Amino acid sequence: MTSPFAETAILLRASALTSIQTYAKESDDGRETGGILLGRDPLNGPLEVLHAGDAGPDAVRDARFFLRDLGHAQRLASQAFDKDGSMWIGEWHTHPVEEAVPSDRDLATYQSLLADPELAFTRFLALIVGHCVVDGQLEKVLAGWICTPGFAELVPMRCVADRAIADGDATPQLPTSGT
Ligand SMILES: [Zn+2]
Repeated sequence: MTSPFAETAILLRASALTSIQTYAKESDDGRETGGILLGRDPLNGPLEVLHAGDAGPDAVRDARFFLRDLGHAQRLASQAFDKDGSMWIGEWHTHPVEEAVPSDRDLATYQSLLADPELAFTRFLALIVGHCVVDGQLEKVLAGWICTPGFAELVPMRCVADRAIADGDATPQLPTSGT
């Protein structure tokens, strides 16, 4: 029997999703926002997003561009690492009017991060809050992209209850139901 989770490439903790939904409202002003994603990359399993950061006071927010507040991101990363060993695994950002697809500029940013030997990423997670038309209505969507050198792939993502990814436990205990 095939597990319904077999293809899941990203596990997103419910509280991290709530953070993204809350912080993304900032984009109601028409400018992009975003933040870092912290969690674990088991390499042989889905990426686990445990925390999503906010933009920070010194972030650059433009209609088609977002640049994180580096100092703020580093503080969040350090706090999360002390708490549960979370590492920097990616970023989320909004597209106030466009699709949840990385722009050329986004892709160039991700490739430069992947190419930085000090950061030592083997893959980089990008979550994008964008829009798509559903039944004639413009709806907000969250899409997950995994970037590797030269590639960016749209991948299946599953939101799980916080308890489904235990602190300090590298192996997620997947819920048995579909919720
Ligand atoms: Zn973008």
